Amino acid sequence: MDLRSLIRDVPDFPKEGVIFKDITLLLQNSDALKETTNALIKLLNGQKIDKVVGMESRGFIFGPMLANRLNAGFVPIRKPGKLPSTTLSETYDLEYGTDTLEIHIDAIEKGDKVLIHDDVLATGGTANAACKLIERLGGEIVQCNFLIELTFLNGSSKINGYPTQSLLKY
Ligand code: 5GP
Repeated sequence: MDLRSLIRDVPDFPKEGVIFKDITLLLQNSDALKETTNALIKLLNGQKIDKVVGMESRGFIFGPMLANRLNAGFVPIRKPGKLPSTTLSETYDLEYGTDTLEIHIDAIEKGDKVLIHDDVLATGGTANAACKLIERLGGEIVQCNFLIELTFLNGSSKINGYPTQSLLKY
């Protein structure tokens, strides 16, 4: 199945000059949904995972499906002020300004084997912040995997040498 044909380029979203990769056509296609989940699981090559960590908000789509398949738990990383209990936060630079991500301090146990998942790897700022949060909680990052990698933005170089895999590269 040609998953690429179900990724829609949306020009000037969310702001002018950005070409947004829209994954909703893929999500609404039952065969594509199944195939994508299977392929993301295959990227792990059978490695054991205790927790799948997904980033708000599109990391919450495949993240729990992968966790379910891997017999792992799911942990959300969210934007500031969204998680109700005690959090750890990590601030990172954007082109203009900064952004912050949070995780519950009791979400990861020391030595947990962690898969970090998001829909798109762009500049790598989000994934790098997620890695730092997992490191600070003592988790062991087994892999960062993505549905889509925008290779021209060089995001994988930001992920501190952790194994990084993506299904579709542009
Ligand atoms: P980064 O921090 O790597 O620059 O951006 C990655 C984050 O922004 C991810 O959480 C991802 O969901 C979102 N993102 C950036 N560009 C796109 C895009 O073209 N399509 C989608 N679906 N998400 C994007």
